[in-house]
Amino acid sequence: MALKSLHFALTILLLTLFSPLNARALNIESVRFGLYEEKTRLVLDLDKPADFRVFVLSEPYRMVIDLPSFEWQAGEVQSPQDAGVQATRHGNLKPGISRIVFDLNRPISIQKAFILPGGVGKPDRLVIDFSNVSLSLFEQIKSTVHGSLDPDKIQAQNANIATLAPPPPPKPQDQKPLIIIDPGHGGIDPGASGPHGLHEKKVVLALAKDLKAQLESSGKYRVKMTRADNTFIKLSNRVKFARKHEGDLFISLHADSMENKNISGASVYTLSEKASDAQTAKLAARENKADLIAGIDLSVEDEDVVGILMDLAMRDTMNQSKFFANTLVNSFNANGVKTLPRPHRYAGFAVLKAPDIPSVLIEAGFMSNDKEANLLNTSDHRQKIASALTKGIDRYFEQVRKNQRI
Ligand code: ZN
Repeated sequence: MALKSLHFALTILLLTLFSPLNARALNIESVRFGLYEEKTRLVLDLDKPADFRVFVLSEPYRMVIDLPSFEWQAGEVQSPQDAGVQATRHGNLKPGISRIVFDLNRPISIQKAFILPGGVGKPDRLVIDFSNVSLSLFEQIKSTVHGSLDPDKIQAQNANIATLAPPPPPKPQDQKPLIIIDPGHGGIDPGASGPHGLHEKKVVLALAKDLKAQLESSGKYRVKMTRADNTFIKLSNRVKFARKHEGDLFISLHADSMENKNISGASVYTLSEKASDAQTAKLAARENKADLIAGIDLSVEDEDVVGILMDLAMRDTMNQSKFFANTLVNSFNANGVKTLPRPHRYAGFAVLKAPDIPSVLIEAGFMSNDKEANLLNTSDHRQKIASALTKGIDRYFEQVRKNQRI
């Protein structure tokens, strides 16, 4: 598919970032703390972007940051008393990996850890937001590792570039496109509630199954679902699932609620840092909290990866996502599926962040509108939506093939 070249570009990018050709040691230039009402922000100024991992340990409480081997140019770390840092240490952990340890006087939870690329007069930064937590919450989250540095891999890469895995072989031309269908919510997360105890998680799973059946019976596609039953799945794992299977399209299905219960109609969302309107921003903010229902905010754990890959890969993927979204909207209109005014909208849905797979989130309708919720609970209505989606997907791939011939 068209993404072959993108996969290749990503591989080259990763090779460049982590290969011995780029093996000049990383410099840690300074370490700063910022105190906010709801969090403490730790910023490490770096002289280049780097892969990292950060996690917490107990007895005594510590925050640990692993990075590729670095030169420490940050001097003695000054931390405000309220940050809870008692001492800072750093040194080599093993060949190719250095470690920074912050000794803490209390349990903390890491909220976010990500690389912020440098700009004019600004260095690349590793940013870590953390906050105080109760001992019981700490016990739940302490095994979470943020970031994607794999010490074993780094060592192998530094030893010999030949040990790197070759780029993935391109998919055979005759392989059918793989559509990843992602029914929203599930398990302990019911999603939006409709009349008579009807829940979003149930109707979107039913819609996903209808769509899968239609796509498969066309003989043109392979289909995988992020969940096929009433299971809770973290947002980041939905994206990981799509990437692991090298999906060609990612379609997240929802039927959320609106404050205004009169609003009904389908809409299609693509990723943007800035939401297209206040209503959409609220919808995305609520949706991104799905992981909190399981007690842990992991919706942001992959921001580091996205940060590195965003510029190169994301732009192309976002354009394809937008094109796909417009194709779906046209298909809704052509096939009698009622849509919202301005049915293609933008927002920062966490589930749309695969950097290399065109992704859309469909609001098939709203559970807050009794009439629409009841309709979504009927097989006829779901079949109609699934049929419009299937035709839209057909149209999308016709266009992709046409572009490849040019
Ligand atoms: Zn939802």
